[in-house]
Amino acid sequence: MTGSVGGPADGPPRVVIVGGGMAGLAAAWELERWSRTGEVVVDLFEAMPRVGGPVVTDLTSGFALEGGPDSFLTTKPDLVGLVEELGLADSLIGVRETARGALIFRAGRLHRIPPLIGVGFWSAARSIRSTTLLSRAGKLRVALGVLLVRLRPIRTDDGIPLGPQLRSRFGHEAVDWLFEPFLAGVHSTPIDVLSPSAVAPLLPARWTAAAARPLPAGGAPPGRSRSVAGATGRRPPLFASLREGMESLPRRLSESLRGTRVHLGTRAVALEREGSSYRLRLEDGRSVGADGVVLAVSGPDAARLLGAAGPADATRALDEVPRTPTVVVGLVVRREDVPIPLTGTGVLVPPRTGLPIAAITWLSSKWDRPDPGDGRVALRAFLRPIDPREAAPPSDSEAVELAREGLRHVMGIEAPPTHCVVFAHSRAIPWYEIGHAARVERARRALAAWPRVELAGNTYDGIGLPDVVGSGRAAARRLAAAFGKVPPRS
Ligand SMILES: Cc1cc2nc3c(=O)[nH]c(=O)nc-3n(C[C@H](O)[C@H](O)[C@H](O)COP(=O)(O)OP(=O)(O)OC[C@H]3O[C@@H](n4cnc5c(N)ncnc54)[C@H](O)[C@@H]3O)c2cc1C
Repeated sequence: MTGSVGGPADGPPRVVIVGGGMAGLAAAWELERWSRTGEVVVDLFEAMPRVGGPVVTDLTSGFALEGGPDSFLTTKPDLVGLVEELGLADSLIGVRETARGALIFRAGRLHRIPPLIGVGFWSAARSIRSTTLLSRAGKLRVALGVLLVRLRPIRTDDGIPLGPQLRSRFGHEAVDWLFEPFLAGVHSTPIDVLSPSAVAPLLPARWTAAAARPLPAGGAPPGRSRSVAGATGRRPPLFASLREGMESLPRRLSESLRGTRVHLGTRAVALEREGSSYRLRLEDGRSVGADGVVLAVSGPDAARLLGAAGPADATRALDEVPRTPTVVVGLVVRREDVPIPLTGTGVLVPPRTGLPIAAITWLSSKWDRPDPGDGRVALRAFLRPIDPREAAPPSDSEAVELAREGLRHVMGIEAPPTHCVVFAHSRAIPWYEIGHAARVERARRALAAWPRVELAGNTYDGIGLPDVVGSGRAAARRLAAAFGKVPPRS
């Protein structure tokens, strides 16, 4: 040990947070009421030179080119509440009136997505009858499925993956061309291994055998919006973004942390038990003592930090959660080079097309933010996720070529972009494979042997930003409670 970070062990409780993504930042924010007064000492360590993880926006073209999330659901209260607390409610923007709905690419054409989920029986039946996406036989099979799913609801207990359950009710065509691309827009996990409990809140309640598993540590059920209407007099849009780009959120959050010492470019390499407390070892040779720890990193990263000395069952379970490298290519093109009308939010590209992209977001048509007004439009292509156990992600130049190949096929764009940026997120998104919930529970149960070590982030209770923020805040609240600190009731 060549040095140490932090104060004496007999002072106020010391908390270390590993990871400066949205989960780690949210945990630090939750502890601010005590860290600002010195009642708790908080250090946050982030390996990268910036906070936010995949929440990144390129503004250099005059557009907000999102490299990670471009939106979040406001019916889950944790993130919209945080936006309000940070004074960002006035920056909330919604989808343009003119850009309702996404399209699906099949057989060389773009098709409107028939609303099946979240609408009544007759609306679903009408939309299926009129859709151009499915063949006549496929439509009949879906109509039968709408009845079948009432008789044999989908099991959400994690016993059978979602794909086979949907296939046996709605047929292969609807799963391959409708359900898979729709759900892949939320989760990268292939539908035939996807855990139904992970997406149960997205399915109509009348389709499922059991109520959705309650999201444990902080995930909140949809529908209980803590609206920002109180602060701004306006209801937030259902899907919201931020006018200055999504990266403005982690940036504002980290600037607002006045009681937390944020150490950027500082990688943690091991967490060790030291009597009844802990010691976090850093890559630069320093170490820091801690009475409480939030591991706001991926499952495998948490397993590495716990190492051989950690609770074996916890490290095994955490290490088992596969993660997908995700590559997003942001492009600015001349409007005159786009041969189709941009009247939706974007296009989903099913795996069955064999194309190398999974989706295209029509960023400048989708979001209600000022346009540079110079005849250019902003798009972004998601490359198709690759099985992390089978292949390495493409290089930047390969990624651009793959994105352009996708744009050529799906939108007929031949001309080169005027601006292009590649966002490569190594192992950014966990796969919620069948058995995920049990694996997480096993890890948490085993980790209870190390009291006051909390797990937070997108590996556990949902990958969406509201879930992630909720998990960070909940982890911090559990630690605070362990130190006898209880927030005042609001
Ligand atoms: C391309 C893409 C699009 C997405 N779109 C959406 C969307 O539209 N809406 C939505 O709600 N969600 C979306 N998501 C999901 C959401 O962005 C993520 O789930 C969320 O940002 C993850 O936050 P996190 O804090 O759990 O993890 P991360 O942000 O990955 O944070 C973990 C941090 O820990 C750091 N770290 C790792 N190991 C160490 C170590 N040993 N020492 C110190 N630091 C370490 C990492 O550098 C990283 O910064 C998207 C994700 C991606 C990748």
